[in-house]
Parts: sequence; C-alpha cells; structure tokens
Amino acid sequence: MREKIIEIAMANGADIVGFAPADRFDKNDAIFKIMPETKTVIGLAFRVLRGIYRGIEEGSTYYQYTTMAVENMEETIMPMAQLKVAMMLEQEGYIALPQRKHQQIMAEADSTNPEVAYDAVFRNRTAEVQMNFLDAAVKCGLGEKGFYQTLLTDKFGPMVRYCFILTDAKLEASEMVEPHLCDSCGKCAKGCPGNAIAPDGTVDAWQCAVYYNGANGTKNPFMPPEAFAGMDNRLEIIAGEAKVTPQTAKKILDKIYFYPPAQHAYQCSICGRACDMECYVHLEEKGVLTKKFKTPFRKRKPWHFEVEDFKAEE
Ligand code: SF4
Ligand code: SF4
Repeated sequence: MREKIIEIAMANGADIVGFAPADRFDKNDAIFKIMPETKTVIGLAFRVLRGIYRGIEEGSTYYQYTTMAVENMEETIMPMAQLKVAMMLEQEGYIALPQRKHQQIMAEADSTNPEVAYDAVFRNRTAEVQMNFLDAAVKCGLGEKGFYQTLLTDKFGPMVRYCFILTDAKLEASEMVEPHLCDSCGKCAKGCPGNAIAPDGTVDAWQCAVYYNGANGTKNPFMPPEAFAGMDNRLEIIAGEAKVTPQTAKKILDKIYFYPPAQHAYQCSICGRACDMECYVHLEEKGVLTKKFKTPFRKRKPWHFEVEDFKAEE
C-alpha cells in the first residue's frame, strides 16, 4: 500500500512523499488531538516551478508566482493529490484525514499570513488545534529545517509547498534527513527586502507581510514615485528599513495596491519570496541540489531601483 500511495501522490503532482510513524511525535502533539488514531503521517511535497521565481528574479512577471505557485498549488493541486491518496486509503478500509494549512486562520493571536490580505485573516480566533507543518515535514523525511524556518529539500531546496494526510494505517517509516544543506550563510535574511528575518532566524509575520506585498520601492517595478505620500517615514518604508508593528503594518498595507490580488484573498507577491530565491541560488551554486537544470537560476546581477527615485515626492 505504501508504494501505491507514492504512485498516486506522484501521479497527482507530488514530488516528494514521506512517512512519519506516530511515535516520532510527542504524545501531546496536535496530530493526536486532530485524530487520536493516527499511526502514520504522510507528507507530500510539491515543487514550485523554478521558472515562476525566474519571472520575479528578472522583474518580468509577478502574477504567475501568486496564482501558479501559491493559489493553484494550495487550492487545486495539493488538495487533489491529498484527496486521491485519502480515497485510496478509505477504499482499503483505513481512516485518512488530509491536513492543509488554513491560510486565513493563524496559530497565534494578532498574527498574519503574508500570502493573504490581512483583513481576510480570521480575527480574534486562533487555530486552537493546528499541527506544526514544518516539524511534521521534517519528521516525514521531506527535508531539513533551514535557518529562516523553512523546509529545505535535497531536490528543490526551499522551492516547495507541502501538506499531509493523517491515517490509522501503519506504514513503513521514511528516514529523516540528516541536516546537511543549511550552512547558516545568512543569505536568506540578507536577501529579504524588508529585514523580516531576525538574527535568530524567526520571521516577523507583519514585517514580512508589508514587504511581501511590495513596500520596498527598490525592488518593486509597480511602485509610483509618490508612494506612501503623507507618511512621515515613507522613504524608510521604501528603502525596506521601516520597523513595523501590527498597527503600522496595517496602515502601510492599506496604501498598497500594486497588482490585483488572486482569488481566496491571496495577495500578489512582489518580493517573490526573495528569501527562497537567495537560498536557492546559494544551494545551487554550491552544487548540493540533486535536481539539476541546464542553466543556472541567476543569470545576471540582481536589479534594483534607487531610493532617490522616490525622493522628489518628499
Ligand atoms: S540561505 Fe543560507 S542560512 Fe538561509 S536557509 Fe539557505 S543555507 Fe541556510
Ligand atoms: S523575502 Fe519576502 S517572504 Fe521572505 S521574509 Fe522577506 S518579505 Fe517575507
């Protein structure tokens, strides 16, 4: 049955499939609150097309990341693979419970998800029971935890999304990956256009939301020269140097409309997950990724505009 699961998952778009036995999780882990009978967590990782990131790397196309790398992956491709595997498990008489991140329910109060509109986040309620996705991915052997709280896979580095199926079927475990990719180079943090990644690798969700949405004018081809007019620290914001709070982040986000959002409240990514791109470039240059391409991801020096371009509006 394990082989059949891998076959169905891969036929439906998954690139990496891993199995974590229940005993890899603490007995108080959320998975047992969600489904006490869980014997195995099945992890499915899906590549995000490298070509989509290339569009943002070159500054030529942005919407494809949002729609094809986030929206369609989360709302169509990943659920389809989960459903097909889950249906097969049910067919065999087992319980199968798909687990996909709810993009609009946060684990912590007053947090946000950069990928969706902040006012679409379900307010005043957190997900009381939500599995730890990154931890489960590591336990399923999908990859290792990178410095900025991201999953690094041998094949695609950080360019993946992932989801799970909890089942009461006992399936042979995958080996966990011995961490070997992340060398603490710090390029992910340096590459963030909004300094959202702290020295300890934690990501400030509101700082990330502001700059994911394109508040850094030096990396945003859609920003008009008069952006953030009337805001005292507009040049600081545009330079990626403003330190935001949830309150100031909302004020900045209310002034941002550089590109239409997608469906399901997904916001257009203007940073294009520069953290992922910088990490990917680093891992590719080191030659440690197993999925090889005919040409390198980065073909020229990254472009940027000058903060001075926005000064005339002061
Ligand atoms: S960019 Fe460097 S520090 Fe950041 S996750 Fe990748 S390898 Fe680790
Ligand atoms: S590069 Fe973008 S996605 Fe990554 S931490 Fe910075 S703002 Fe967030």
